[in-house]
Amino acid sequence: MNPTRRRRYLNALSIDSYRSRSGVAEEAVEQIAVEAVSNDGRRFPAEPQVPSAPTRSRVPPPAPPPAPEASPIIASTPAVEVPADWSGLRAMVKDCPRCKLCATRTQTVFGVGPQDAPLMIVGEGPGADEDLKGEPFVGKAGKLLDQMLAAIGRSRGENTYIANVVKCRPPGNRDPEADEVAACRPYLDRQIELLKPRLIVALGRVAAQRLLQSDAPLSRLRGPLYQHGAERTPVLVTYHPAYLLRSPREKSKSWDDLKRVHQLLAQASSAATAQA
Ligand code: URA
Ligand code: SF4
Repeated sequence: MNPTRRRRYLNALSIDSYRSRSGVAEEAVEQIAVEAVSNDGRRFPAEPQVPSAPTRSRVPPPAPPPAPEASPIIASTPAVEVPADWSGLRAMVKDCPRCKLCATRTQTVFGVGPQDAPLMIVGEGPGADEDLKGEPFVGKAGKLLDQMLAAIGRSRGENTYIANVVKCRPPGNRDPEADEVAACRPYLDRQIELLKPRLIVALGRVAAQRLLQSDAPLSRLRGPLYQHGAERTPVLVTYHPAYLLRSPREKSKSWDDLKRVHQLLAQASSAATAQA
């Protein structure tokens, strides 16, 4: 990896203090970054410490997640036919009138990234910058997200798809409300079905609760590897970059999560290679 870029990212996440507190070797941090970047897309090298013979070409099946909580955040909405192809789906979202956010948006923010990306990032909803530009995570939090992804060899240009729970900006950057999350649900579900990612990373409480159909707080949801939908796509929960900007104390835990993302994708990749 470009050392300047990695250093900038590690500085942004205060990794120096994390390293000295926890005793993680510089080489280990270097190694993960170097491995990530010396290989594009799904082609990470096999890692010797990875458990052998996973049966799927994704991340190996996670341990059973904790029993889901009751889900008062899931409001019911009328069923909707959603196109089963990217261009049809994009066109439907572009003019969507399904919830009240359509009245205040400048434009919808569909998602960005290659349509065969092995990694999918799910955020909450567009902010002011995204609403103006029509692309997710282009503001301050987006810059941090890009740095975080770069540190594990990922980018929206190459191998990572980024989307949000709601495609329209909630006014004043408030959290999306339950009826809005429910109305937008079929679009994100279809994006996941079309993309077939090997791993989904939920950024923050809203994305985590939506994907896991839970009302538990983020602190409870972060940690286990979950499964989503009929494809049982593995889901990992981590902090939202906007939260990290406000709460630097959590940055070392975020780095732990990123390393895990890198390892899970490497495992999935070597499993796919072994199957081929
Ligand atoms: N925060 C999000 O959750 N999504 C964006 O697209 C931008 C900021
Ligand atoms: Fe439609 Fe989703 Fe926008 Fe609501 S947030 S108007 S459901 S695209």
